[in-house]
Amino acid sequence: MKYVVLVPDGCADEPFDGFDGRTPLQVAEMPHLRAMAARSEVGRAAVIPEGLPPGSDVGNLSILGYDPAEFHTGRAPIEAAAMGVELAADEVAYRCNLVTLDADGMMVDFAAGHPSSEQSHPIVAALDAALGGGRDGVRFYPGVEYRHLVVVPRDWADAACTPPHDLTGRPAVWPLGPAAGKLRALMDASRPIVAHAAAAVGSSATQIWLWGQGRRPHLPRFADRFGVEGRLTSAVDLVRGLGVLAGIEVLDVPGATAGFDNDYGAQRNACLASLTDRDFFLLHVEATDEAGHQQDAAAKVASLEAWDREIVGPLLEALPAHGAFRVLLLPDHATPLHLGTHTSDPVPYLLFDSEVDGPGGDYTEAGVAGCPPVPAHTLMARMTAGASHIV
Ligand SMILES: [Zn+2]
Repeated sequence: MKYVVLVPDGCADEPFDGFDGRTPLQVAEMPHLRAMAARSEVGRAAVIPEGLPPGSDVGNLSILGYDPAEFHTGRAPIEAAAMGVELAADEVAYRCNLVTLDADGMMVDFAAGHPSSEQSHPIVAALDAALGGGRDGVRFYPGVEYRHLVVVPRDWADAACTPPHDLTGRPAVWPLGPAAGKLRALMDASRPIVAHAAAAVGSSATQIWLWGQGRRPHLPRFADRFGVEGRLTSAVDLVRGLGVLAGIEVLDVPGATAGFDNDYGAQRNACLASLTDRDFFLLHVEATDEAGHQQDAAAKVASLEAWDREIVGPLLEALPAHGAFRVLLLPDHATPLHLGTHTSDPVPYLLFDSEVDGPGGDYTEAGVAGCPPVPAHTLMARMTAGASHIV
Protein backbone atom coordinates (compact mmCIF):
# COMPACT_ATOMS: atom_id res chain seq x y z
CA MET A 1 0.00 0.00 0.00
CA LYS A 2 1.21 3.51 -0.85
CA TYR A 3 0.11 6.56 1.14
CA VAL A 4 0.10 10.04 -0.42
CA VAL A 5 -0.83 13.25 1.43
CA LEU A 6 -1.59 16.34 -0.66
CA VAL A 7 -1.58 19.75 1.04
CA PRO A 8 -2.72 22.82 -0.94
CA ASP A 9 -1.79 25.34 1.76
CA GLY A 10 -4.65 27.61 2.81
CA CYS A 11 -6.85 26.56 -0.15
CA ALA A 12 -10.11 26.56 1.83
CA ASP A 13 -12.04 29.82 1.62
CA GLU A 14 -15.35 31.56 2.23
CA PRO A 15 -18.00 32.82 -0.20
CA PHE A 16 -16.29 35.53 -2.27
CA ASP A 17 -18.12 38.50 -3.79
CA GLY A 18 -15.93 38.49 -6.89
CA PHE A 19 -17.16 34.93 -7.57
CA ASP A 20 -20.85 35.70 -6.89
CA GLY A 21 -20.59 34.15 -3.46
CA ARG A 22 -18.75 31.00 -4.57
CA THR A 23 -15.32 29.89 -3.32
CA PRO A 24 -12.15 29.15 -5.31
CA LEU A 25 -12.74 25.40 -4.79
CA GLN A 26 -16.18 25.84 -6.40
CA VAL A 27 -14.92 28.00 -9.25
CA ALA A 28 -11.76 26.10 -10.24
CA GLU A 29 -11.91 23.50 -13.00
CA MET A 30 -10.76 20.37 -11.18
CA PRO A 31 -12.12 17.34 -13.04
CA HIS A 32 -9.62 14.86 -11.56
CA LEU A 33 -10.29 15.99 -8.00
CA ARG A 34 -14.06 15.80 -8.56
CA ALA A 35 -13.76 12.25 -9.93
CA MET A 36 -11.62 11.22 -6.93
CA ALA A 37 -14.04 12.89 -4.49
CA ALA A 38 -16.95 10.98 -6.01
CA ARG A 39 -15.29 7.74 -4.77
CA SER A 40 -13.86 9.10 -1.48
CA GLU A 41 -14.85 9.86 2.04
CA VAL A 42 -15.30 13.65 2.02
CA GLY A 43 -15.76 15.57 5.24
CA ARG A 44 -14.72 18.46 7.45
CA ALA A 45 -11.50 18.43 9.46
CA ALA A 46 -10.63 20.64 12.44
CA VAL A 47 -6.99 21.41 11.65
CA ILE A 48 -6.55 24.17 14.26
CA PRO A 49 -7.45 23.07 17.81
CA GLU A 50 -9.19 25.67 19.94
CA GLY A 51 -6.83 28.08 21.65
CA LEU A 52 -3.95 27.64 19.17
CA PRO A 53 -3.05 30.18 16.46
CA PRO A 54 -4.24 29.33 12.91
CA GLY A 55 -0.74 28.94 11.49
CA SER A 56 0.82 26.51 9.05
CA ASP A 57 2.90 25.07 11.92
CA VAL A 58 -0.24 24.04 13.83
CA GLY A 59 -2.20 22.90 10.76
CA ASN A 60 0.57 20.79 9.27
CA LEU A 61 1.28 19.18 12.64
CA SER A 62 -2.38 18.09 12.62
CA ILE A 63 -2.11 16.77 9.08
CA LEU A 64 0.99 14.73 10.01
CA GLY A 65 -1.05 13.03 12.73
CA TYR A 66 0.28 14.81 15.83
CA ASP A 67 -2.31 16.55 18.03
CA PRO A 68 -1.07 20.17 18.22
CA ALA A 69 -2.64 20.48 21.68
CA GLU A 70 -0.11 17.85 22.81
CA PHE A 71 2.93 18.48 20.59
CA HIS A 72 3.00 22.15 19.48
CA THR A 73 5.46 24.31 21.43
CA GLY A 74 5.78 27.34 19.08
CA ARG A 75 6.76 28.09 15.51
CA ALA A 76 10.36 29.19 16.01
CA PRO A 77 11.64 25.76 17.16
CA ILE A 78 10.14 24.20 14.01
CA GLU A 79 11.94 26.76 11.87
CA ALA A 80 15.10 26.04 13.88
CA ALA A 81 14.83 22.37 12.90
CA ALA A 82 14.48 23.35 9.24
CA MET A 83 17.62 25.51 9.57
CA GLY A 84 19.58 22.69 11.19
CA VAL A 85 19.80 24.52 14.53
CA GLU A 86 19.84 22.08 17.47
CA LEU A 87 18.05 23.24 20.61
CA ALA A 88 19.19 21.91 23.99
CA ALA A 89 16.57 20.99 26.59
CA ASP A 90 17.27 24.20 28.53
CA GLU A 91 16.99 26.48 25.49
CA VAL A 92 14.21 28.33 23.71
CA ALA A 93 14.13 29.56 20.11
CA TYR A 94 12.56 32.88 19.14
CA ARG A 95 11.79 34.08 15.64
CA CYS A 96 13.92 37.19 15.18
CA ASN A 97 12.50 39.46 12.47
CA LEU A 98 14.38 42.44 11.16
CA VAL A 99 11.70 45.15 11.29
CA THR A 100 11.31 48.88 10.63
CA LEU A 101 9.87 51.04 13.43
CA ASP A 102 9.62 54.80 13.09
CA ALA A 103 10.80 57.30 15.73
CA ASP A 104 7.40 57.14 17.49
CA GLY A 105 7.58 53.35 17.85
CA MET A 106 5.14 52.65 14.99
CA MET A 107 5.57 49.32 13.13
CA VAL A 108 6.19 50.62 9.64
CA ASP A 109 7.28 47.27 8.13
CA PHE A 110 7.35 43.83 9.79
CA ALA A 111 9.74 42.69 7.03
CA ALA A 112 12.10 45.71 7.03
CA GLY A 113 11.58 46.32 3.32
CA HIS A 114 12.32 42.68 2.44
CA PRO A 115 16.12 42.77 2.45
CA SER A 116 17.92 40.07 0.47
CA SER A 117 19.72 37.45 2.52
CA GLU A 118 22.98 38.98 1.27
CA GLN A 119 21.92 42.25 2.90
CA SER A 120 20.52 40.78 6.10
CA HIS A 121 23.23 38.25 6.99
CA PRO A 122 25.87 40.90 7.85
CA ILE A 123 23.29 42.56 10.12
CA VAL A 124 22.67 39.28 11.96
CA ALA A 125 26.42 38.67 12.16
CA ALA A 126 26.86 42.11 13.75
CA LEU A 127 24.08 41.33 16.25
CA ASP A 128 25.69 38.02 17.18
CA ALA A 129 29.10 39.69 17.58
CA ALA A 130 27.72 42.42 19.85
CA LEU A 131 24.89 40.74 21.76
CA GLY A 132 25.14 36.98 21.15
CA GLY A 133 27.92 34.53 20.45
CA GLY A 134 26.82 32.49 23.47
CA ARG A 135 27.12 35.33 26.00
CA ASP A 136 24.40 34.84 28.62
CA GLY A 137 23.29 31.87 26.50
CA VAL A 138 22.21 34.07 23.55
CA ARG A 139 23.01 33.03 19.96
CA PHE A 140 21.77 34.57 16.68
CA TYR A 141 21.31 32.48 13.52
CA PRO A 142 20.81 33.98 10.06
CA GLY A 143 17.82 32.71 8.08
CA VAL A 144 16.21 33.95 4.87
CA GLU A 145 15.62 37.64 4.01
CA TYR A 146 14.09 39.29 7.12
CA ARG A 147 13.41 36.00 8.96
CA HIS A 148 16.09 35.00 11.48
CA LEU A 149 16.39 33.11 14.73
CA VAL A 150 17.73 33.71 18.21
CA VAL A 151 18.32 30.99 20.81
CA VAL A 152 18.11 32.02 24.47
CA PRO A 153 17.98 30.31 27.88
CA ARG A 154 14.77 28.58 28.85
CA ASP A 155 13.79 31.17 31.46
CA TRP A 156 13.30 33.68 28.63
CA ALA A 157 10.29 31.73 27.36
CA ASP A 158 7.53 33.04 29.60
CA ALA A 159 6.24 36.02 27.64
CA ALA A 160 3.30 36.99 25.45
CA CYS A 161 4.72 38.31 22.17
CA THR A 162 2.80 39.93 19.32
CA PRO A 163 3.64 38.80 15.76
CA PRO A 164 5.01 41.88 13.98
CA HIS A 165 2.77 41.36 10.91
CA ASP A 166 -0.22 41.93 13.22
CA LEU A 167 1.15 45.40 14.08
CA THR A 168 1.64 46.89 10.62
CA GLY A 169 0.82 50.62 10.75
CA ARG A 170 0.17 50.47 14.50
CA PRO A 171 2.21 51.32 17.60
CA ALA A 172 4.49 48.49 18.68
CA VAL A 173 3.01 46.21 21.35
CA TRP A 174 5.94 45.14 23.49
CA PRO A 175 6.19 41.69 25.13
CA LEU A 176 4.31 41.10 28.37
CA GLY A 177 4.95 38.63 31.17
CA PRO A 178 7.83 37.52 33.41
CA ALA A 179 10.46 37.41 30.62
CA ALA A 180 9.34 40.66 28.98
CA GLY A 181 12.15 42.71 30.52
CA LYS A 182 14.90 40.53 29.04
CA LEU A 183 13.24 40.50 25.61
CA ARG A 184 12.69 44.25 25.63
CA ALA A 185 16.29 44.83 26.69
CA LEU A 186 17.60 42.71 23.80
CA MET A 187 15.32 44.46 21.30
CA ASP A 188 16.39 47.89 22.63
CA ALA A 189 20.06 46.91 22.53
CA SER A 190 19.68 45.79 18.90
CA ARG A 191 18.82 49.32 17.70
CA PRO A 192 22.27 50.95 17.41
CA ILE A 193 23.79 47.75 16.04
CA VAL A 194 21.09 47.27 13.41
CA ALA A 195 21.21 50.97 12.48
CA HIS A 196 24.95 50.81 11.85
CA ALA A 197 24.95 47.48 9.99
CA ALA A 198 21.82 48.28 7.97
CA ALA A 199 23.26 51.58 6.75
CA ALA A 200 26.27 49.69 5.39
CA VAL A 201 24.08 47.40 3.24
CA GLY A 202 21.35 49.89 2.32
CA SER A 203 18.59 48.24 4.39
CA SER A 204 15.72 50.04 6.14
CA ALA A 205 15.82 47.70 9.18
CA THR A 206 15.85 49.55 12.51
CA GLN A 207 15.80 46.73 15.08
CA ILE A 208 14.92 43.11 15.82
CA TRP A 209 11.46 41.83 16.83
CA LEU A 210 11.17 38.64 18.92
CA TRP A 211 8.11 36.34 18.78
CA GLY A 212 6.89 32.79 18.07
CA GLN A 213 9.01 31.24 20.83
CA GLY A 214 9.12 27.64 21.97
CA ARG A 215 11.18 24.73 23.29
CA ARG A 216 12.23 21.89 21.01
CA PRO A 217 9.10 19.77 20.48
CA HIS A 218 9.48 16.04 20.93
CA LEU A 219 7.69 14.30 18.09
CA PRO A 220 7.71 10.50 18.13
CA ARG A 221 9.20 9.32 14.84
CA PHE A 222 6.54 9.24 12.14
CA ALA A 223 7.59 5.72 11.10
CA ASP A 224 7.23 4.44 14.67
CA ARG A 225 3.84 6.06 15.06
CA PHE A 226 2.27 5.11 11.74
CA GLY A 227 4.35 2.18 10.46
CA VAL A 228 5.48 3.78 7.20
CA GLU A 229 8.72 5.46 6.14
CA GLY A 230 8.47 8.39 3.84
CA ARG A 231 9.63 11.65 2.37
CA LEU A 232 8.13 15.07 1.75
CA THR A 233 8.51 18.04 -0.55
CA SER A 234 7.75 21.64 0.47
CA ALA A 235 9.32 25.04 -0.12
CA VAL A 236 8.17 26.25 3.32
CA ASP A 237 10.47 26.13 6.36
CA LEU A 238 7.70 25.20 8.79
CA VAL A 239 6.71 22.09 6.82
CA ARG A 240 10.33 21.13 6.23
CA GLY A 241 11.08 21.59 9.93
CA LEU A 242 8.21 19.29 10.89
CA GLY A 243 9.71 16.69 8.55
CA VAL A 244 13.07 16.97 10.32
CA LEU A 245 11.44 16.69 13.76
CA ALA A 246 9.27 13.70 12.75
CA GLY A 247 12.06 11.83 10.96
CA ILE A 248 10.50 12.23 7.49
CA GLU A 249 13.18 12.77 4.86
CA VAL A 250 12.92 16.29 3.40
CA LEU A 251 13.64 16.51 -0.33
CA ASP A 252 15.11 19.52 -2.12
CA VAL A 253 13.16 19.63 -5.37
CA PRO A 254 14.55 22.15 -7.87
CA GLY A 255 11.73 24.44 -9.01
CA ALA A 256 9.64 24.03 -5.85
CA THR A 257 8.97 27.56 -4.56
CA ALA A 258 6.60 29.30 -2.15
CA GLY A 259 5.32 31.51 -4.99
CA PHE A 260 3.13 31.36 -8.10
CA ASP A 261 6.09 30.14 -10.18
CA ASN A 262 6.12 26.78 -8.33
CA ASP A 263 6.96 23.77 -10.52
CA TYR A 264 4.06 21.43 -9.67
CA GLY A 265 5.28 18.79 -12.11
CA ALA A 266 8.70 18.65 -10.46
CA GLN A 267 7.09 17.99 -7.07
CA ARG A 268 4.80 15.33 -8.58
CA ASN A 269 7.77 13.60 -10.23
CA ALA A 270 9.65 13.67 -6.91
CA CYS A 271 6.64 12.01 -5.28
CA LEU A 272 6.43 9.25 -7.88
CA ALA A 273 10.19 8.62 -7.80
CA SER A 274 10.14 8.42 -4.00
CA LEU A 275 7.31 5.87 -3.98
CA THR A 276 9.54 3.30 -5.69
CA ASP A 277 11.33 2.64 -2.37
CA ARG A 278 9.23 4.36 0.33
CA ASP A 279 5.52 3.94 0.99
CA PHE A 280 4.62 7.41 2.33
CA PHE A 281 4.86 10.82 0.65
CA LEU A 282 3.62 14.30 1.57
CA LEU A 283 3.44 16.97 -1.13
CA HIS A 284 2.87 20.56 0.06
CA VAL A 285 2.43 23.63 -2.17
CA GLU A 286 2.30 27.15 -0.74
CA ALA A 287 0.85 29.04 -3.75
CA THR A 288 -2.83 28.82 -2.70
CA ASP A 289 -2.01 30.39 0.68
CA GLU A 290 0.09 33.11 -0.92
CA ALA A 291 -2.82 33.93 -3.28
CA GLY A 292 -5.09 34.20 -0.23
CA HIS A 293 -2.69 36.59 1.53
CA GLN A 294 -2.37 38.72 -1.62
CA GLN A 295 -6.17 38.54 -2.06
CA ASP A 296 -5.50 37.46 -5.64
CA ALA A 297 -8.60 35.44 -6.56
CA ALA A 298 -7.43 34.55 -10.06
CA ALA A 299 -4.10 33.26 -8.74
CA LYS A 300 -5.86 31.11 -6.16
CA VAL A 301 -8.06 29.50 -8.81
CA ALA A 302 -5.08 29.08 -11.16
CA SER A 303 -3.12 27.35 -8.42
CA LEU A 304 -5.98 24.94 -7.72
CA GLU A 305 -6.27 24.17 -11.43
CA ALA A 306 -2.51 23.53 -11.58
CA TRP A 307 -2.93 21.11 -8.67
CA ASP A 308 -5.57 19.21 -10.62
CA ARG A 309 -3.77 19.21 -13.97
CA GLU A 310 -0.18 18.69 -12.79
CA ILE A 311 -0.57 16.64 -9.62
CA VAL A 312 -3.95 14.97 -8.98
CA GLY A 313 -4.61 13.80 -12.55
CA PRO A 314 -1.11 12.43 -13.28
CA LEU A 315 -0.88 10.80 -9.83
CA LEU A 316 -4.18 8.98 -10.24
CA GLU A 317 -2.92 7.68 -13.57
CA ALA A 318 0.54 6.64 -12.33
CA LEU A 319 -0.15 5.35 -8.82
CA PRO A 320 -1.91 2.08 -9.78
CA ALA A 321 1.43 0.86 -11.17
CA HIS A 322 2.68 0.88 -7.54
CA GLY A 323 -0.26 -1.28 -6.36
CA ALA A 324 -3.00 -0.26 -3.94
CA PHE A 325 -2.88 3.29 -2.62
CA ARG A 326 -4.62 5.82 -0.40
CA VAL A 327 -4.71 9.60 -0.75
CA LEU A 328 -5.44 12.17 1.95
CA LEU A 329 -6.01 15.71 0.68
CA LEU A 330 -6.63 18.77 2.84
CA PRO A 331 -5.21 22.24 3.53
CA ASP A 332 -3.56 23.15 6.84
CA HIS A 333 -6.05 26.00 7.41
CA ALA A 334 -8.27 28.34 5.40
CA THR A 335 -6.91 31.61 3.96
CA PRO A 336 -10.10 33.40 2.80
CA LEU A 337 -9.59 35.88 -0.04
CA HIS A 338 -11.80 38.53 1.51
CA LEU A 339 -9.73 38.47 4.75
CA GLY A 340 -6.23 38.00 3.34
CA THR A 341 -5.25 36.02 6.44
CA HIS A 342 -5.72 32.62 8.08
CA THR A 343 -8.81 31.48 9.99
CA SER A 344 -9.29 28.63 12.47
CA ASP A 345 -12.39 27.17 10.79
CA PRO A 346 -12.51 23.47 9.88
CA VAL A 347 -11.58 22.68 6.25
CA PRO A 348 -12.75 20.09 3.70
CA TYR A 349 -10.79 16.82 3.64
CA LEU A 350 -10.85 13.88 1.29
CA LEU A 351 -9.73 10.32 2.00
CA PHE A 352 -9.43 8.02 -1.02
CA ASP A 353 -8.73 4.28 -1.09
CA SER A 354 -8.05 2.65 -4.45
CA GLU A 355 -9.43 -0.67 -3.12
CA VAL A 356 -12.56 0.49 -1.30
CA ASP A 357 -15.08 2.96 -2.65
CA GLY A 358 -16.15 5.60 -0.14
CA PRO A 359 -19.59 7.19 0.01
CA GLY A 360 -18.45 9.99 -2.32
CA GLY A 361 -18.90 13.70 -1.89
CA ASP A 362 -18.30 17.19 -3.18
CA TYR A 363 -14.85 18.53 -2.23
CA THR A 364 -15.94 22.12 -1.53
CA GLU A 365 -16.70 24.13 1.59
CA ALA A 366 -20.43 23.99 0.84
CA GLY A 367 -20.22 20.29 0.07
CA VAL A 368 -19.01 19.50 3.59
CA ALA A 369 -20.91 22.22 5.47
CA GLY A 370 -23.24 19.67 7.08
CA CYS A 371 -20.48 17.28 8.21
CA PRO A 372 -19.52 17.33 11.91
CA PRO A 373 -15.81 18.30 12.07
CA VAL A 374 -13.35 15.53 12.96
CA PRO A 375 -10.01 16.33 14.64
CA ALA A 376 -7.61 16.51 11.69
CA HIS A 377 -4.80 14.72 13.54
CA THR A 378 -6.91 11.54 13.62
CA LEU A 379 -6.95 11.23 9.82
CA MET A 380 -3.33 10.06 9.45
CA ALA A 381 -3.92 7.04 11.68
CA ARG A 382 -7.00 6.18 9.65
CA MET A 383 -5.18 6.52 6.34
CA THR A 384 -2.24 4.39 7.46
CA ALA A 385 -4.38 1.80 9.32
CA GLY A 386 -2.96 -1.62 8.53
CA ALA A 387 0.38 -0.21 7.34
CA SER A 388 2.73 -3.09 6.70
CA HIS A 389 5.66 -2.76 9.08
CA ILE A 390 4.57 -1.45 12.48
CA VAL A 391 7.81 -1.20 14.45
ZN1 LIG B 1 -0.48 27.38 5.79
